[in-house]
Order: sequence, then C-alpha cells, then structure tokens
Amino acid sequence: ASTHFGFEQVNEEEKADRVRQVFTGVADKYDLMNDAMSMGIHRLWKDYFVQSLPLRSNAKMLDVAGGTGDISFRALRRFPRAHVTVCDINEEMLRVGEHKAHEDKMIDCSRLSFVVGDGEKLPFEDNSFDAYTISFGIRNCTHVDQVVREAHRVLKPGGLFACLEFSQIHPALRQMYDLYSFQVIPVMGEVLAKDYNSYKYLVESIRRFPNQTDFSELISSTGLKDVRYENLSFGICAIHTARK
Ligand code: SAM
Repeated sequence: ASTHFGFEQVNEEEKADRVRQVFTGVADKYDLMNDAMSMGIHRLWKDYFVQSLPLRSNAKMLDVAGGTGDISFRALRRFPRAHVTVCDINEEMLRVGEHKAHEDKMIDCSRLSFVVGDGEKLPFEDNSFDAYTISFGIRNCTHVDQVVREAHRVLKPGGLFACLEFSQIHPALRQMYDLYSFQVIPVMGEVLAKDYNSYKYLVESIRRFPNQTDFSELISSTGLKDVRYENLSFGICAIHTARK
C-alpha cells in the first residue's frame, strides 16, 4: 500500500524496528545532523518551545522521546529548581544525553533522571507530572493516539501537555521544502553519518504525520482540554499544547 504522498506504508513492527535502528545508528551524530539539516534552526525552535512553557519554577516535568536531552537541558537552565525526567526508548540516545549533562556546568544533574521507556506504555504512575513535553519524537511512535493517552494518564489534573513536531508547511512553500527534504537531507545523511536510508526514513515520517488540525483533534479525543497550536517557520513545525 502507499500513502497519498506515494510512499510505501510500513507495518507496525517494521516501523518500531526501523525507528530503533535509526536512532541507535545516529545517536553519536544526532546533534551534528540536526544542526546540518536545519541549518541550526532547530535550536531556535527548541529555545522558543521551552521559553513558552508556562510552568512553575519547581515543576516536575517529563520529557518523552527526550533523546540526547535538548529539551530537558533547556528546561533546567530556565527552571533550575525543576525536576526533569528524560524518557526515551533508546538507551544509546540517553547515554549520549547523560554524557552531555555531565559536561554542562549549567546543569545540576541531581535534578535530572534518565529512564528507558516507551512513550506508548510509560513506566510512571498516574497523575505524577506537572508537565509533559515531547519534541520531534511523537511522529516516530507507532500509535500516536496511545502516546497522547499515556501523556494524559501520567499528568496531574491541570498539568500541561506540550508537543513540538514537524507539521504541514504553508502550501506556497511546499515545493521548495519538498525538494530540500527529499533531495538534500538523505544525501547529507550519507555524507555526515554514512546513513542515507535513516535520513530518507526521517523525511518520510514527517510527511506521514497528521497536519495541525488533525493532530489537535487527536489530542482532544484523548480527553486533554484547551488544545491550541502555534506554527513555527510557516508550519515547518508546530507547538501543540493542552491541559489535563
Ligand atoms: N526530543 C529530542 C530532540 O528534540 O532533539 C530527540 C528527538 S529524536 C528525533 C526522536 C527520539 O524519539 C529518539 O531518541 C527515539 O529513540 C525516540 N523514540 C522513538 N520511539 C519512541 C517511543 N515509542 N518511546 C519513547 N521514545 C521513542
């Protein structure tokens, strides 16, 4: 079967496997590749995402698909009295993150925990976090609705859900964006990380992810309230927020 974008549809097991391989393969080069592919702009998106989180200074926060810690470290720099749990299915990504945290003088590692876990079946109790973040991670999960349901479960009543993810770009820019994504990114993947296919997969996963409105509806369907979104860079990404 193929999607309306013409890509081959992968089955669920195959997808989970591929995601595992992709991130195990790229863990050491992940930060470098992000800088190269987005020309550094992912840093600005992430800065803005964390700056805009309306949190108490001592919030208990969970960053799912937290990878090498980009969101968690920013959150701790902004809220030094917070406690942040970084959860990711891939141990390699967390290992790189832990190493970075120890090198970073601005971060108090006693306020950080690293936990291996699946966003679809989180190893945490109900009603335990003030905020749940997920940045460039949810589109890699097999059952996006299940991930949001789990976010709802682990959030305290009134807790904040915030998701930063690639989204649907403004139609006027679409052709140029597609050309860049499909022609340039996999080649960069090959040159910098010797991995053409992983980066081809990453581009395809962006196209498969629901657009801003459909994703808002999915979030509402899990029981989260006050769902809003904001486009970044003409919709290349969007921040979706909601409350339990
Ligand atoms: N949040 C980080 C950031 O913004 O740079 C990392 C994002 S990285 C593109 C995606 C991460 O999602 C990877 O570290 C991958 O291991 C993780 N991931 C994929 N499937 C997952 C799942 N089911 N549960 C938890 N993490 C998952």
